[in-house]
Amino acid sequence: MRVGSSLQVSFDRLAENISLLKKMPCHDKKILFMVKANAYGHGIVPITHFANKEMDIRCFGTASIAEAVFLRQSLSNNQFDIYIFSELELKETASQEAILDHRLIPVLSTRHDLLFFLKESTFKNVPLCLKFNIGMNRLGLDDLDETIDLILKSGRKSIFHVMGHFACSSFSMNEHDSNVEQQNYFEKIKKTVKSKGLSIERSSVDNSGAILQKQDFLDSHIRPGLMLYGPSPLDESLREKNVWSGKMISQLETTILKTFKTYPNMPIGYNGTLMDRQGFLAVIALGYGDGLFTSFQGVKISHKGFLGEFVGRVNMDMAQILFPLDVQNKIKDGEKIIIWNEDSNCFLNLSQQANHIPYEILCGISSRVPRVYL
Ligand SMILES: *Cc1c(COP(=O)(O)O)cnc(C)c1O
Repeated sequence: MRVGSSLQVSFDRLAENISLLKKMPCHDKKILFMVKANAYGHGIVPITHFANKEMDIRCFGTASIAEAVFLRQSLSNNQFDIYIFSELELKETASQEAILDHRLIPVLSTRHDLLFFLKESTFKNVPLCLKFNIGMNRLGLDDLDETIDLILKSGRKSIFHVMGHFACSSFSMNEHDSNVEQQNYFEKIKKTVKSKGLSIERSSVDNSGAILQKQDFLDSHIRPGLMLYGPSPLDESLREKNVWSGKMISQLETTILKTFKTYPNMPIGYNGTLMDRQGFLAVIALGYGDGLFTSFQGVKISHKGFLGEFVGRVNMDMAQILFPLDVQNKIKDGEKIIIWNEDSNCFLNLSQQANHIPYEILCGISSRVPRVYL
């Protein structure tokens, strides 16, 4: 565990982000909050507990049985639905028991899972939840007619939740061809299902990118992830028109371990990267073992109003930031330095400079960095 570094998570800002979402055109839709990958790195249990108890969110999305079981066991006094989106392992007895004992909702998105689910009497009281491939060509049921046939033959009269998932919602929902096709196809799926006599209790398709752009919401639920943690998922070209003023719920902080002057051609760290200038260098207590990837080399951040740049190779436990020489007496060994704060745009800028999607940076913060809840 790190001592001088932490990811500080603010419940107040999470509450603000959720309140902002509830004022958008989707305000009357129910929220299925995506908390997979340890709530995008923020800690699945505290985030879910707060969102459920304080913000009245009743549905949460995980990726695997293990995540879902951990969540249910950790919050056994809370009331909420847990969906499992990608890894079901339905044929394992342990998975079947987990689904029944912990009242989990498996999202069926392959033909073989659907066949097995409908055939096994174990699942007869488990809600039928289907995710269709609407053009992303990842998981998702591919054959609508066959799917409907199988359900009708199984004797089920209704589908608990019908889902789709957009491949390109960080681009325009109205102008990007595949977004238009995917929206139309999802509407067709629901219509066809109903026309065959099956009822649909719930439906959802919108992730953060779609939520930020759409005016009309045709489903019972929305499925936000990234936006509630702060950043907008939208492509830069769309951010001005579809403003999301969510704040980062996290702040990544570390400590300056050592400072010294550099001179041109001074070799720094592994492989001896040669400095191209005089400057004042700070060695910080975060490296790729903490999720600060080697791609941070070259990234610029500001500290106390001074612009620093990650120089040399990022190490497992440390990294180097070079400041202009005139900060010499203003930055000291042992002081704190903030890698990102509540400003979502700064965070997006940082991730862009490092050439990572924002999701990746948040999920990448390793378990070595303590999460501190405010
Ligand atoms: C992760 C995920 C979401 C949320 O996506 P964001 O872009 O983070 O809003 C929604 N639906 C599914 C199926 C997902 O896997």
